Amino acid sequence: MKIVMLGAPGVGKGTQAARLCVRYKIAHLSTGDMLRDNVVRQTPLGLQAKKIIDAGELVADNIMIHMIDERLKMDDCRSGCLFDGFPRTLEQAKALANSPAAPDTVINLDLDDGKIIERICGRRMHPASGRIYHVKFSPPKTPDTDDITGEPLVQRDDDNEQTAGMRLQVFRQQTALILQYYKNAAAAGQIRMIEDDAEGDADGIAERLALALEIK
Ligand code: AMP
Repeated sequence: MKIVMLGAPGVGKGTQAARLCVRYKIAHLSTGDMLRDNVVRQTPLGLQAKKIIDAGELVADNIMIHMIDERLKMDDCRSGCLFDGFPRTLEQAKALANSPAAPDTVINLDLDDGKIIERICGRRMHPASGRIYHVKFSPPKTPDTDDITGEPLVQRDDDNEQTAGMRLQVFRQQTALILQYYKNAAAAGQIRMIEDDAEGDADGIAERLALALEIK
């Protein structure tokens, strides 16, 4: 399985990606998580990326394509992988199509902007594992605390209303272009496209996606 998960920031890509990767034992390749890891470790890339992430803009294509190329060399990708947050531009999509990890399936999650902002602003994260919660839609058992480790949850610096608005604008301008690219590929029989309206709770969405994936 080589899956691309498309959708606006905050639509629930990360949550669904994590579930599908556990279910199908494939590697979860989240470029946002990889960048945030660089920010925490204060690598040269992390220092450069922090400003871009905080502004809600996109990191340069060559950097992202190189990051994915390197990640794909790791053993866990052999059994399959799911791309979460990549590709975000046509250039990234074309680079992926020419790589050994060219996707066979593209999942598109869609939701209206008002609901997306609500999902982004209520999102909380366990930094060490990447586990994601929402204060209203999937709250932890104890407020602001990770269910598994008991460690504190954090709100991402870019999960505020202002940056979320900018990220949505970038998504609608640039990333949405790749949706048409993949729709064309699906029409040509090169990939399978699964569309979901991302409505309802995370369990319900996960079940719908698994059902769609398992239909041959
Ligand atoms: P995410 O966690 O996927 O919402 O990504 C957080 C931020 O990381 C984005 O708003 C971008 O600034 C940056 N980023 C993540 N993935 C990419 C990508 N494929 N191309 C460019 N920038 C990215």
